[in-house]
Amino acid sequence: MTTTPKAPISWDEYFMLQAMMASFRSKDPSTKVGSVLVDENNHQISMGYNGFIAGIDESQIPWTKDLEQGLVNTKYGYVVHAEANAILHSPRAIEGSRCYVTLFPCNECAKLIASKKVKEVVYLSDKHQDKEHTIVAKKIFDLSGINYRSMTVTPNLLEELQGHLKALLHDVQFGGKL
Ligand SMILES: [Zn+2]
Repeated sequence: MTTTPKAPISWDEYFMLQAMMASFRSKDPSTKVGSVLVDENNHQISMGYNGFIAGIDESQIPWTKDLEQGLVNTKYGYVVHAEANAILHSPRAIEGSRCYVTLFPCNECAKLIASKKVKEVVYLSDKHQDKEHTIVAKKIFDLSGINYRSMTVTPNLLEELQGHLKALLHDVQFGGKL
């Protein structure tokens, strides 16, 4: 009897790992967030991570978080969030899509997500759940009928992925011969 092999990774896990990879691109020394937008056929539409405005001269902008130095002298004046970048740089319409993001969206990103009629938000961390910008974001999603749910990526999956990547590299180095 033959059994159909099961994919070792679900779509949720696959796209959250894509969002985690996107966050790896962020140059923010304190908070690295990644996001991907996915259509109903599980095709990735777009990706983004938190970073300064695309194309701007980054050497003129600080990564400082200390607001006592004035907004003009902190990152907050110039950083575009991961979800906002994914939306801004999407090559096509994202209505009905799912947004995978490593950190629950803030209210500013929630405004964009709701305006673009994203259907669902899937997030990894909700560490700012007590902050106002998260509470407002959830209210925006509730009022817009946008579903949001958390998921985890297990250490076991990361181990399997690491084993897979090492095997691929081994193939490159040794042509599959042990
Ligand atoms: Zn945001």
